[in-house]
Amino acid sequence: MSTSERFDCHYCKDSLLGKKYIMKEDTQYCTKCYENLFANCCEGCSSPIGCNCKVRKHQCCPKGNGSDITNV
Ligand SMILES: [Zn+2]
Ligand SMILES: [Zn+2]
Repeated sequence: MSTSERFDCHYCKDSLLGKKYIMKEDTQYCTKCYENLFANCCEGCSSPIGCNCKVRKHQCCPKGNGSDITNV
């Protein structure tokens, strides 16, 4: 017998049934919350990178090699 487990986003409590979700440390999050909570920021433009990307920057952004950063 299986208990009817709830399957909601840990953060916003939206139902994840039939939706895309992401597990982190045994906790599930909807993609939106995951992005808000855990997404990395792009090294090129500093905006959040989608949670599906394992890269450190957007493909369209210039390479941030650390030496071009202008100190204002
Ligand atoms: Zn959520
Ligand atoms: Zn970018």
